[in-house]
Amino acid sequence: MNDLYSKYKSLRTGAVADYIPELAKVNPDLFSICTVTVNGDVLQVGDFEHLFTIQSISKVFVHGLALEDHGRDYVLKRVGVEPTGDAFNSIILDEQSKRPYNPMVNAGAIATTGLIKGKGATERLNRLLEMFQRYVGKDVFVDISVFTSERSTGHRNRAMAYLMLNFGMIDGQIDESLDLYFQQCAVMVNCRDLAVMAAALANKGVNPLTKEQAVDSQYIKDILSVMYTCGMYNFAGEWAYKVGLPAKSGVSGGIIAVVPGQMGIAVFSPLLDARGNSIRGVKVCEELSQQFGLHLFDCV
Ligand code: GLU
Repeated sequence: MNDLYSKYKSLRTGAVADYIPELAKVNPDLFSICTVTVNGDVLQVGDFEHLFTIQSISKVFVHGLALEDHGRDYVLKRVGVEPTGDAFNSIILDEQSKRPYNPMVNAGAIATTGLIKGKGATERLNRLLEMFQRYVGKDVFVDISVFTSERSTGHRNRAMAYLMLNFGMIDGQIDESLDLYFQQCAVMVNCRDLAVMAAALANKGVNPLTKEQAVDSQYIKDILSVMYTCGMYNFAGEWAYKVGLPAKSGVSGGIIAVVPGQMGIAVFSPLLDARGNSIRGVKVCEELSQQFGLHLFDCV
């Protein structure tokens, strides 16, 4: 990991997300790699304590909570599991089966967040935060300036939500669910937290540091399958081919990857490629996978 860190530290290509000023302010040099095994061994290098907003990586964990709230049949009825090959913010919907394509694109994620149970906005937010806390093993909070900025500029997400309402794909409380979606994207984590969260997914849903059950183990295969096919935006196919691990990235520069039964991997570096994936993050995961034979179909 130290070798990979040194090798890619000087790679400065790409650009930080700038659709809101709060993300554009980030120091592009930040870089960290962290792995956590199912036994709780932590390896970390670089700026692993630096906090940033989780963004789209939240979609994985909210999908898990929706599955716990409703079961897999109902969730599948409301949100598909089909990769789109389109960008994360694509407005294309599956009008035939009356649902967004998958929980990893924005439309599907907003519909998934809409499924989270709770009496009113506060209870629903608290349930989300408690869920994140089980994965991370400590208190988590929402960055208010990122949340308000996302809310005031998220016209495309709002438009998608109304389009889904028009097609009868989601229920009425649009503004509440959109706020919850913007809040989940603004949850603060560091690279080490992400690796622990990924390790819980590798460890039958149990946080390997606190031993707490973060998500019902019966849903791990649902969560990982969707990550595998849809987690890396419109790079998901090439990622599955080259890296061969369930993964998810976010526009703030994080990537998590899960080696089932073994460990969670997280990389943070805010310089993104045109599809919104961290450039150093992709490189590091490609090399880790090759060097250690982590591709799921290696030696099959
Ligand atoms: N808050 C972002 C959005 O909904 C998340 C994007 C991402 O990380 O892919 O546009």
